[in-house]
Amino acid sequence: MEKSLATIHRAHWYRSVRTITGLPGAVVELEGRRLINFASNDYLGLAGDPRLIAAATAATQELGTGSTGSRLLSGHRKLHQQLERAIASLKQTEDALVFSSGYLANMGTIAAVVGERDLILADQYNHSSLKNGAKLSGATVLNYLHCNLEDLQTKLEGQRSQYRRCLIVSDSVFSMDGDLCPLPELLTLAETFDSMVLIDEAHATGVMGATGAGCVEHYGCTKSNLIQVGTLSKALGSMGGYVAGTATLIDFLRNRAPTWIYTTALTPADTGAALEAIKILTQEPQLIKKLRKNFVLLKKSLSNLDIIPSESAIVCVRMKNASDALATAERLKTAVIFAPAIRPPTVPTSRIRISVMATHSPEHIQQLVEELNHRGTEDTEKDKRGIS
Ligand SMILES: *Cc1c(COP(=O)(O)O)cnc(C)c1O
Repeated sequence: MEKSLATIHRAHWYRSVRTITGLPGAVVELEGRRLINFASNDYLGLAGDPRLIAAATAATQELGTGSTGSRLLSGHRKLHQQLERAIASLKQTEDALVFSSGYLANMGTIAAVVGERDLILADQYNHSSLKNGAKLSGATVLNYLHCNLEDLQTKLEGQRSQYRRCLIVSDSVFSMDGDLCPLPELLTLAETFDSMVLIDEAHATGVMGATGAGCVEHYGCTKSNLIQVGTLSKALGSMGGYVAGTATLIDFLRNRAPTWIYTTALTPADTGAALEAIKILTQEPQLIKKLRKNFVLLKKSLSNLDIIPSESAIVCVRMKNASDALATAERLKTAVIFAPAIRPPTVPTSRIRISVMATHSPEHIQQLVEELNHRGTEDTEKDKRGIS
């Protein structure tokens, strides 16, 4: 391990944690300094919302801190059922199932629906949890080029007939690029080649679509038969994951998904907070509108930079190389802006990755834009000016 760590250091791939203090939000305190936060998945600003905190507290007081057992043993509460009903209603599916994290939801679902006699076709940029779920399943895994329908079709034509079931797997909003998968076309190909589709709505739930139901809603594919996975830990401000789909799928997962069957049920606090978040999402559609307004403004203001095309709340500015990306992130930090450099091996090319929140003010966005466009005054002066 020591040798491996030394190698990681030499490659400049070493990573470590940084401590945030206080409540999450559009402005956070990082290592003693207050910074405008463009590094959070808390797209709607709900993780620090008093209503979610109250819901988590009330659930804890009524039901305790731990859920004490797996759902099939002694951990199932009415609150879980209420949350699953709320997710199914948001997604307009027959049913839904909550897992202890989005990572576990992906792993367990993929491992349940395909096995050794089956084929998985996966976008090369898929999230780690989808990749590991594919491995766990024991199915043959073929990666197709990122969002490349021709490559996917060629692979389906060449391979599909040799396997029992086939599952096409993709992020809906790609987490490190912010672009969208071509969902309608994926569904058409899936129908032609008798395949299932699983999409990961982690960065789309609460962000995309008029009601925040995700890319499925954004693309008008709500009526399609597909497996929708997502997380309660991003725009919904809590912790946990979910699967939404047909009643048959959910019933099957309750009997076959190892990461659901053999793990402790979601805590009352997480469950209560997520349920409250969905309630807020339904009652206050203006939150999503505000988020959309913010990312449209940001993308417009950065149009003269090298931006990765994106329709989501993730905006990436391409950097020449890893050291450039690190230097830019450092410069931003001096100017009280927290936006991380993402480098290989996480992604093939270095970038500054910006996450927009509904709770960013126009001034927050303006400050980021000025800094990225090099139009600002001296760093030191900026530092004195601080955060508006
Ligand atoms: C964050 C993320 C997950 C994992 O969700 P958690 O609830 O944090 O475990 C899965 N897929 C994608 C695309 C993600 O970005």
